[in-house]
Amino acid sequence: MSTAVVVGSGPNGLAAAIHLARAGLAVTVVEAHDRPGGGTRTSELTLPGLLHDDCAAFHPTGVASPYFASLGLERHGLRWLWPEIDLAHPLDDGRAGIATRDLAASAAALGVDAAAWKRMFGPAVRNFDDLITEVFQPLVHVPAHPITLGRFGMKALLPATVLGRRFRDEPARALFTGVAAHKFGRLDRPLSASVGLMLAAAAHAVGWPVAEGGTESITRALLAELASSGGAVVTGVRVTSLDQLRDLAGSTPDVVVLDTAPAGVLEIVGDRLPARVRRGLSRYTYGPAAFKVDLAIEGDIPWTNPDCGRAGTLHLGGSAAEIAAVEAATVRGEMPERPFVLLGQQYLCDPSRSAGDSNPIYAYAHVPHGYAGDATDAIIGQIERFAPGFRDRILAVSTRDPAALEAYNANYVGGDISAGANTAPQIVFRPRPTLNPHALGLPGVYLCSAATPPSAGVHGMGGFHAAEAALRRLR
Ligand SMILES: Cc1cc2nc3c(=O)[nH]c(=O)nc-3n(C[C@H](O)[C@H](O)[C@H](O)COP(=O)(O)OP(=O)(O)OC[C@H]3O[C@@H](n4cnc5c(N)ncnc54)[C@H](O)[C@@H]3O)c2cc1C
Repeated sequence: MSTAVVVGSGPNGLAAAIHLARAGLAVTVVEAHDRPGGGTRTSELTLPGLLHDDCAAFHPTGVASPYFASLGLERHGLRWLWPEIDLAHPLDDGRAGIATRDLAASAAALGVDAAAWKRMFGPAVRNFDDLITEVFQPLVHVPAHPITLGRFGMKALLPATVLGRRFRDEPARALFTGVAAHKFGRLDRPLSASVGLMLAAAAHAVGWPVAEGGTESITRALLAELASSGGAVVTGVRVTSLDQLRDLAGSTPDVVVLDTAPAGVLEIVGDRLPARVRRGLSRYTYGPAAFKVDLAIEGDIPWTNPDCGRAGTLHLGGSAAEIAAVEAATVRGEMPERPFVLLGQQYLCDPSRSAGDSNPIYAYAHVPHGYAGDATDAIIGQIERFAPGFRDRILAVSTRDPAALEAYNANYVGGDISAGANTAPQIVFRPRPTLNPHALGLPGVYLCSAATPPSAGVHGMGGFHAAEAALRRLR
């Protein structure tokens, strides 16, 4: 029987492990943390009984993932829950742009931009399954749906700031720019529209759901599936060399899959990589960071705009121009006074996360790479800006700065939660210019993390592609 070791138990690591175990390999997953899951864990971070997602919270990529769908994770208790409004973007004048799974209704709520919004997202929403097939693999490939990909690609190539000008009024412009800001980088650069186009289309096509009981339910379901295929998980072991894996597995494994950032690859196998691969990974760049704040509050957030009180995700950053400016500042290494903040009210559609009248609030700000200051007040200030009186409802606060995020998960280098900057070259070729991004040029050793296509997000597709590459070689 062939053997495999997967280093790291994030969703990509577990997906790779499951795919290999289902193909008949004896699989062991080795995880540095004392709990498996990587970016898909949930903890009582503030008060007893309040469930906070440690990292990932909203799952457009999870619910759309063809690999997750093929596993039937519902059999292991995974249940997606959708908020009434998937996404809201409040403005200083009291208006808000909103996105729901109803494209026509969302567009209608955007007034003068209704037709432009439908034109922008209609084709991607109508052909979403085909589009997902195309973008959930290395970008350079022979497309099975060239027209769908071509129509999407024409817009995705543009800077988000240019595409945003197709809207005349601020709610639509800011709504789109806030989604584009998930790129964590400059929004006036080519290809910077790609992330926003995809995630906004996903909001209308499949929604931005949460996992009942917390994101950790995804990990629990993946672990149950892995166990049923005979795979095992070892926690509390940080891997630093291939020799360590031989000692752990009893013999040299036939397949090694790394769910690590390129920095981790260099640490574990750097001295054995072909020079061109080592050079490529050494040049890989990391982007701006997140500063995470979880809060326990009494009751609900007193939003000025009532739609915000029905939304799962909120983007707090004001106008499109303001968001583009603060994102550029974080790339330059400057901490903005009013950073872009993503806020989660998962409890609205999943009451199992609350305790009595106390509710968990999830938020993070975009801050410069490795930012060493405290962004807590800036984040609370952004919430107050659109919900005056919020501060008075706070019962407890828990924070993780970029260094704490990296200590929590080595893949978040400098606090970069995307496992690498989304610059144009790294959007197209990740982690290095090659047509085989999951291979490392070392027989039997593969990379599956968010540093490979299709990049960050909870979808397991990097794991699936890396495992497929390993199985092709074994066959
Ligand atoms: C604050 C935050 C918010 C996010 N929000 C969302 C969201 O709402 N929706 C979404 O889809 N995504 C979100 N993400 C991103 C998402 O969590 C990641 O893209 C995803 O988890 C990547 O999966 P992965 O398997 O590649 O790696 P990870 O989930 O990062 O897992 C890697 C694992 O490998 C382990 N590891 C690393 N090096 C070693 C080593 N040397 N030895 C042993 N173990 C090692 C780590 O401990 C970790 O457990 C968010 C991330 C953060 C931090």
